[in-house]
Amino acid sequence: MLEKKFKKPPWQKPAPVRDKPVSSDYPFYNSHKWRKHSLARRKRHPTCECSACRVSDDPLDATMTDHIIPIRIGGSKFDERNLQSMNKLKCHQIKRQKESQGLYEAHVYNENSEKVSARKFNEGVRGSISYS
Ligand SMILES: [Zn+2]
Repeated sequence: MLEKKFKKPPWQKPAPVRDKPVSSDYPFYNSHKWRKHSLARRKRHPTCECSACRVSDDPLDATMTDHIIPIRIGGSKFDERNLQSMNKLKCHQIKRQKESQGLYEAHVYNENSEKVSARKFNEGVRGSISYS
């Protein structure tokens, strides 16, 4: 049996090359609701809230809103305690680098200072989020 080689018709263009990593969170970051929320928050917190800028006399400008506990591991999308203004080009890059090296860890504590899971936190447990 002869097999015909499949050829794409000329009007079918090749798939576009993506310049951003494909992530399940990606559509969320482009949503109107998130962009509006992020912008409003950065108006209230216009400088970077990373650990270095917090103690700096000259903190960098915030250009994005970061989820302290990433959404992909259960961090809340809109909980104020899980958000921080960040400078995308410098400080967020450093955070991502640390994350990929396993040097960054978010900690979630309830009001008795006991460590709890991010999901538990989303269910209304009081407490705080920090990272190192
Ligand atoms: Zn910073």
